[in-house]
Amino acid sequence: MDKDTIAAISTPLGEGGIGIVRLSGESAFNIINKIFSCPKEKEKDYPRPRYLYHGYIKDLQGNIIDEVLVSFMPAPKTYTCEDVVEINCHSGIFTLKSILRLVLESGARPAEPGEFTKRAFINGRIDLSQAEAVLNMTRARSEEAVKTAARGLQGELNERIEHIKEMIVRVRAPLEASFDYPEEFAEETFDYPALEDELEEIKQQLEELLQGVERNRAFQEGVSVAIIGKPNVGKSSLLNALLQQQRAIVHEIPGTTRDILEGYMNLGGYPIKLVDTAGIQEGTDDPVEKQGIELSRKAAEQAKLLIMVTDGSKKLSEADQEIASLKHKEQAMVVAINKADLERRVHPDEVARQCPEAKVVETAAIKKEGIKDLENAVTDQLDQIMEPGSESPVIVSVRHEQVIKDAIACLSNALNALASDPLEMVSLELQHANEALGEITGETVNEKLLDKIFSEFCLGK
Ligand code: GDP
Repeated sequence: MDKDTIAAISTPLGEGGIGIVRLSGESAFNIINKIFSCPKEKEKDYPRPRYLYHGYIKDLQGNIIDEVLVSFMPAPKTYTCEDVVEINCHSGIFTLKSILRLVLESGARPAEPGEFTKRAFINGRIDLSQAEAVLNMTRARSEEAVKTAARGLQGELNERIEHIKEMIVRVRAPLEASFDYPEEFAEETFDYPALEDELEEIKQQLEELLQGVERNRAFQEGVSVAIIGKPNVGKSSLLNALLQQQRAIVHEIPGTTRDILEGYMNLGGYPIKLVDTAGIQEGTDDPVEKQGIELSRKAAEQAKLLIMVTDGSKKLSEADQEIASLKHKEQAMVVAINKADLERRVHPDEVARQCPEAKVVETAAIKKEGIKDLENAVTDQLDQIMEPGSESPVIVSVRHEQVIKDAIACLSNALNALASDPLEMVSLELQHANEALGEITGETVNEKLLDKIFSEFCLGK
């Protein structure tokens, strides 16, 4: 195990009430004693565990750098399971950096991103799925994301995976015994239907973990919604109305929205990334515009939901229909018949006939009318594609999802093998499933994967 004492600024850099420099490792107490002077340091029981000491950080020449509160947390009941010291100082980039420099000069080394959490994992305080939940917590962008990350912190996924792994071990044990003592366990004496049921049960439990994974991820990472439509129909104006701020440039010349514009908002609890695309129109020779159109198509393809905007003061054209046909099977769509303040030339029923799966609303973006209807339509549609009430029992990241899918594939192989191959093949597939699942709990994880996971953390976490 790494015996170095590590240190980092654990709070965001910038002006604030309090900033924290954190140390973890065998020499943490020694290091702080070199630079912290405290009126109570002569007391017999100094330093009392988890007690806040008021005093001063002084440089090696004895100059005061800051007035601080310091806590001493002895191993093993700490975040990292090592001796931890936290220096609460006045937050300001200069103060924090001066104190960190002093700590480093006194014997600590700079922590790598996520190294405190990595040590908590290596020292066995948390499993890997909990460590990853820490990352989700620091990145959470919505209330729902905080809730789901909190469930991850409690180790729910780990518990479920451990349970499934135990089931696999139980199924494998008699198989393995039969290989070791063939005279006592003849293959033909195995209860094949019972074995098949057990394999099916394990597979089903794994599949349950992936239920509602889309919905959970949507809350965690945000849902991408693209606004599409011909040039000049009012896409940017609608984006502005939705975001209630002037983020997009609204212009009267067709084709002005050349770049993709984005905004973040919260709708019905969904964290939404709203993307305004350049007008999708064919037949332009302008290379910049062409590039914009290409980007628009891509953004539209990747979105979960499309808001298609039409100009209600003009008859529906072939170009409108072409744009509507961009929607693919997994996407939801809302059509906003915009410019409802002008004379109407498009009736909602006509649009509903042409786009039977879409919800149709009327808006007047420049007057901010119909915006609430549009928001409700978007939320309703998202509810439909995100299977409400189907929240997965646990939080499953993209990495976890892949591992679980690998394990499911092993179970399918085991079931196939049961029908036609020797039992050794069944047992081998089960072993592979167990090894795969160990990558979630951290049991069979390798150094490279660990480095990759923890490198995504911020410094000081
Ligand atoms: P985009 O090219 O689709 O992004 O369209 P813009 O949002 O840039 O709008 C094009 C023009 O239509 C601008 O002159 C807007 O002021 C106007 N416009 C947008 N929405 C409305 C609306 O609801 N009613 C009316 N009358 N004009 C609108």
